[in-house]
Amino acid sequence: MVKYDVTVIGSGPGGYVAAVRCAQLGMKVAIVEKYPTLGGTCLNVGCIPSKALLDSSHHFHTALHNFKEHGIDISEPKVNIKQMITRKSGVVKANVDGIAFLMKKNNIDVFEGLGSFETKNKINVAKANGKSETIDTDKVIIATGSKPSSLPFIEIDKKRIITSTEALNLTEVPKHLLIVGGGVIGLELGSVYARLGAQVSVVEYMDSIIPTMDRTMGKELAKILKKEGVKFYLSHKVKEVTAKGNKVTLKADDKKGNEVVLEGDCCLVSVGRYAYTDGLGLDKVGIPTDDRGRVEVDAHLQTNVAGVYALGDVVKGAMLAHKAEEEGVFVAEVMAGQKPHIDYNLIPGVVYTWPEVAAVGQTEEQLKEAGVDYKVGSFPMRALGRSRASMDLDGLVKVLADKETDEILGVHIVGARAADMIAEAVVAMEYRASAEDVSRMSHAHPTYTEAIKEACMAATDNRSIHT
Ligand code: FAD
Ligand code: NAD
Repeated sequence: MVKYDVTVIGSGPGGYVAAVRCAQLGMKVAIVEKYPTLGGTCLNVGCIPSKALLDSSHHFHTALHNFKEHGIDISEPKVNIKQMITRKSGVVKANVDGIAFLMKKNNIDVFEGLGSFETKNKINVAKANGKSETIDTDKVIIATGSKPSSLPFIEIDKKRIITSTEALNLTEVPKHLLIVGGGVIGLELGSVYARLGAQVSVVEYMDSIIPTMDRTMGKELAKILKKEGVKFYLSHKVKEVTAKGNKVTLKADDKKGNEVVLEGDCCLVSVGRYAYTDGLGLDKVGIPTDDRGRVEVDAHLQTNVAGVYALGDVVKGAMLAHKAEEEGVFVAEVMAGQKPHIDYNLIPGVVYTWPEVAAVGQTEEQLKEAGVDYKVGSFPMRALGRSRASMDLDGLVKVLADKETDEILGVHIVGARAADMIAEAVVAMEYRASAEDVSRMSHAHPTYTEAIKEACMAATDNRSIHT
């Protein structure tokens, strides 16, 4: 019987990346996945399908609203939701097939079934047909990810009251989509259906959308999405969501305690995700979880059981695919006796609305709270030639730098292609650049990235040229 050096449980971006890196480092690797396709939440029901629908709906919206001004006359475009979903499924298939190929290429053995601990060196794989087998392994990586959360009084019926998973497979555009939670999922999937013609109402508990990002970002994005018809109910506490026939009723209290009642035909519940450890048998090996159900790990991402590691959404930190990937590489290298490092402050966060929102480092609120003396440089996207050419005038870049040393401490962007632009800020901050450093680097003209340069100029002695 084969004895594996490492068994990875879960094949999302954390698990499959860890598996590949372990194989590269010469380990014999098994990966266990309970679903028939690899890639986890991200590839199957997360990052990839949502971005496919965001791209399709963005094309539709552009054709409907901007083509005429660009001088392109077409008859009025119509939404073919069936084809949009079919294309999305094709994109997902190509990606998950790619992971299966990567496993083969790296000689990683794939086991389909629910993985659970028998002991710390024996993993049981329970298959859908009722059979099971046992994997002998030296080390284990738990990469079981997360699942959508709900609220105690909301019953997700997966038809009218849905999570992101169902929202990626709708067969018709809702007339009125109610959304509980104005975070990343609510705004990305809300944008998809708003662009396709749905009335969208977002009910958010906090006083801002995307409340964990720099507050300027939420304000700016809300302003832009409002122009597109999205309605926001901020500081509203949802207390009831019920479905009857083809109607959904949502009741919430505003901050004065007044009841607000909204009626729609679909309600997306996007109030966060919880770490997923069901059926894993953590108790069999005595691995504890914290108060939020996350597997507890030390600075090396090792659990209290030597040789058992955990990473990605199932442990603390941002629930992001690229964070999980970094941790996958990290754990493999730790196991191989190397000394890898992750700077969690430099993991960027992106919201793929249009315009996109992207950020890295500290927010203004965090700097204030930490008592750091900082300065701000901002630059509006509308002042760029590139933005005028493409009709993407909304948004801004905001750079936060240390008042004394000028070191960049945070970069926050709302703007076209912000998701790609943030990489410049990550590189700059990784090398601890000052705002002046970036302001003196040549940025190709005309590009959106000129806004980063200008914001850095604004942060250093207010010397932005174009405002
Ligand atoms: P997962 O991807 O959740 O993978 C865990 C895997 O483990 C799953 O396949 C699961 O079936 C399997 N599993 C669980 N238990 C067992 C078991 N006992 N045995 C066998 N297999 C098991 N992040 C971004 O960075 N960018 C984005 O644009 C983005 N968009 C998103 C959009 C949506 C709609 C959602 C829901 C999420 C999005 N995310 C995005 C978050 C991202 O998907 C997660 O952060 C990422 O998938 C976490 O990776 P992971 O490997 O930790 O876990
Ligand atoms: P989130 O944490 O981004 O947003 C949840 C929102 O719901 C918050 O604004 C919160 O204040 C609000 N909320 C919580 N309870 C509420 C209540 N009772 N009533 C009204 N509002 C309430 O969570 P999400 O949007 O569900 O996304 C889950 C995770 O998936 C996130 O952690 C995110 O990192 C990840 N994700 C990332 C991306 C991306 O990187 N582009 C995209 C989608 C999802």
